[in-house]
Amino acid sequence: MRQEPRTRAPRNRRAPIEMDPEEFRRVGYLAIDRVADLLARIREVPVTAGESPSEVRAVLPAGPVPERGAGAEELVEEAARLLAEHSLWIGHPRFLGFITSSAAPIGALADLLAAGANPNLGGFVLSPIATEIEAQTVRWIAELIGYPVPCGGLLVSGGNMANFIGFLAARRAAASGDVRAHGLVSEPRLAVYVSEETHTWIQKAADLFGLGTDAIRWIEADANRRMNLHSLERRIADDRKAGIRPLLVAGTAGSVGVGAIDPLPAIAEICRRAGIWFHVDGAYGAPAAMLPEAPEDLKGLALADSVAVDPHKWLYSPLEAGCAIVRDRKLLEETFRYRPPYYHLERRDKEEPINFHELGMQNSRGFRALKVWLGIRQVGREGYVRMIRDDIALARALFDRVSRHEEMEAVSCNLSVTTFRFAPRDGAGDARREEYFNELNEELLERLQSGGETFLSNAVIDGKFLLRACVVNFRTSLEDIEAVPEIVARVGRQVHAEKRGGGKRSR
Ligand SMILES: *Cc1c(COP(=O)(O)O)cnc(C)c1O
Repeated sequence: MRQEPRTRAPRNRRAPIEMDPEEFRRVGYLAIDRVADLLARIREVPVTAGESPSEVRAVLPAGPVPERGAGAEELVEEAARLLAEHSLWIGHPRFLGFITSSAAPIGALADLLAAGANPNLGGFVLSPIATEIEAQTVRWIAELIGYPVPCGGLLVSGGNMANFIGFLAARRAAASGDVRAHGLVSEPRLAVYVSEETHTWIQKAADLFGLGTDAIRWIEADANRRMNLHSLERRIADDRKAGIRPLLVAGTAGSVGVGAIDPLPAIAEICRRAGIWFHVDGAYGAPAAMLPEAPEDLKGLALADSVAVDPHKWLYSPLEAGCAIVRDRKLLEETFRYRPPYYHLERRDKEEPINFHELGMQNSRGFRALKVWLGIRQVGREGYVRMIRDDIALARALFDRVSRHEEMEAVSCNLSVTTFRFAPRDGAGDARREEYFNELNEELLERLQSGGETFLSNAVIDGKFLLRACVVNFRTSLEDIEAVPEIVARVGRQVHAEKRGGGKRSR
């Protein structure tokens, strides 16, 4: 039985979500003003208000989903105020926490343009200019980091996803049969080799893509947290003997803990001889390969079969932007392409277009390339070289400052990551020294992270809980860096005194 429609089909339709051009212009200028206000004040505000989840929840509108709508102007104004008052500012010059960068202002404008035009980069027909901009962006990123072009690749949401793309291409290449049709059931057991410094992406990948985390061979790292090559070769040989097939070796270019760079050319050589896929996780460090003075170990990423780079880290794009690069573009297609009957995206009369849904995991895709492309064009290679160099120099300056500080122990400095700890003289000596310093620094870090003066994160090396400063921040300057040891020492002394005094806050 056919149901009568309840509503008459509208002729002169005015949908509640539409905005007329005048209103859009007015509210749009307002939004831009608010963003400009945020950026103008970013040096003056605390890095964070350090509020608890329930405190933040309390500022949201109360009650269930609103039955009626509200005016765009008032909503934008309110959203801007909420963000202004309850955010943590990754772009603050004293945010040195995780490897997540200050965002280029031009990227915010690019995202507005991108959302305004709203192309769907799944297929060329839905996004002609946007698709070609993305293709050029991927080529340019490859060129910047010294990776041979032409190559395959695409933008994804971040480093994890970019690493997944490399992993899946490797899985496709390593499988003896049609892994896409048969899965892994008819394959020999597979194994992947990474240093113990490797980011958790490898666990997610091994888990999600059917190998299981037991397939990960955690190769020991040396004193500088770089993959031990003898162990790598030994594990590969042992596995081969046991009938286990190596799927890939993933080297890291700038580890998440201390910024360590694996000996990439040597790993490439081991992989070449053994016929194993060589992947590089350059989510953080790959852009530093564009510096003429970059170590050869880093430049070795050019030898990889696939590389992950994060424009939302050291190319300073706003979140989210990751980039997966694969040497063999055809293989990328063979890893991801399906041509369902409901997509008629190939032209019989024209050249073959790029349809990005065939090169990765997403189907509908947004125009995240625009912010990266405009960023590259705004500053050029020269601009990135300067900014990355400055970040590295600032991390070194911090290392020097903490080395000279009586109450600090400087531990490592690689790329733009410096680790150290607060180690007061009178905290040492007793049998519980290490244990005490770990507790002290852990508590100190929590205090720093909610205090709003600066924001650091941590690394754990050889059982030592360390403070970690990552300078991926074009707003940070020497004055900010010089303030860090002072802040850490002041807050550290407080925590130390509280703990010593049978402190109220001690655990
Ligand atoms: C940040 C990072 C990742 C994860 O990248 P996301 O963009 O957060 O997904 C992976 N590996 C390394 C070395 C990283 O620094």
